[in-house]
Amino acid sequence: MSLPSLNQVTLKNKRVILRADLNVPIKDGKILDDSRITSLLPTIDYLCQKGASIVLISHFGRPKGKITSEMSLKQILPALEKCWKKPIVFAEDCIGSQAQQVAQNLKSGEIALLENLRFHPEEEENDPHFAQALAKLGDIYVNDGFAVSHRAHASVHAMTQYLPSFPGLLMTKEINALSQALQAPQRPLAAIIAGSKISTKLDLLKNLLNKVDVLMLSGGIANTFLKARNIEIGASLYEPSMLETTQKIEKLAREKQVEIVLPIDATGPLNAENFTTINLAHVPKEFKILDIGPETVSLFSTKLNQVRTLVWNGPLGVFEIPPFDQGTTAIAQKVAALSHHQQLFSIAGGGETLAALANAKSSNDFSYLSTAGGAFLEWLEGKNLPGIMALMKSYPDAG
Ligand code: ADP
Ligand code: MG
Repeated sequence: MSLPSLNQVTLKNKRVILRADLNVPIKDGKILDDSRITSLLPTIDYLCQKGASIVLISHFGRPKGKITSEMSLKQILPALEKCWKKPIVFAEDCIGSQAQQVAQNLKSGEIALLENLRFHPEEEENDPHFAQALAKLGDIYVNDGFAVSHRAHASVHAMTQYLPSFPGLLMTKEINALSQALQAPQRPLAAIIAGSKISTKLDLLKNLLNKVDVLMLSGGIANTFLKARNIEIGASLYEPSMLETTQKIEKLAREKQVEIVLPIDATGPLNAENFTTINLAHVPKEFKILDIGPETVSLFSTKLNQVRTLVWNGPLGVFEIPPFDQGTTAIAQKVAALSHHQQLFSIAGGGETLAALANAKSSNDFSYLSTAGGAFLEWLEGKNLPGIMALMKSYPDAG
């Protein structure tokens, strides 16, 4: 089964419901990284040039079915208008009479943005009635949210039952780039997995062992491995309920001859003003590991010199607070240099990961940046993503 293509359908004077991932990282009202917005531009331009109008839908944050002003999509409207150079109409709800009116009034080439899908609990419940209410707003459904396609939510899954459904240009590009790089990757293939979403990411590691030759870990994930190896990690972030899981992963890795590389030194606060770097053999009880230290940077760098393909998800330290961005920055610059000289094919993905690479000023040299974190890892594991599977079933009126 293959994906249908947008060029199979007449778009002129059609209303396209475009599911995008506009869940951009925001701090104090400022967008930290706008790659999810800029990367949608080709789809927006394509649809407008073909004479369609666009009803844009997305989630934002995790409001869990409740309306909260901090999670309103309205706050990113100016950024969309600026990037796409078009005025955009906003509807205060994603379904119902106002949304319908806004959608109906759209003329060819015009765009409307609807309020956060997750203000309705039915979105995450994959509710068919909610999907139907959304489907009423357009003639064609386009999914450009690769980053959310690992979730069977109404706007990516149930939705496809009610309208001719297609992947957007960004979705197609992401899938092609990842397939090209990872279906028959140049080996050795390494993964760097770090960050703070410990349980989700630890669950993925077991399947990743079937794909990769080397696994470099940091952040809360590495801490959980260290703890399970009886190495003192002081007051650092880890997941107590996952200690046994890490032991199973270590055993499986030995069987599959996958090398797991853990940090050997760390940087953390000594007190409010000072920080220090220590060897992980001597961590005091009150110490918090907030970044990898220079010896780990060299260790990871040596491994990187030996691999040909790298996938990276998760910042290696608390990069938002300098100097704990130094480890991530050093490794990002190393990967960028190797990629620049064609010695390494590097793919990175994840909300905070992209922000950390931008902070390291090394984004441009990566071979490919994916907007997705979780979806990218599940795709890498070899899982069928529900949002993509849903696009593959043929719809009677498509084309
Ligand atoms: P992504 O969004 O790229 O998938 P995550 O959401 O899993 O990544 O994790 C990102 C967060 O992990 C960052 O905000 C960073 O501060 C945090 N982090 C990284 N290392 C540590 C650490 N050692 N202790 C606590 N938090 C960490
Ligand atoms: Mg994150």
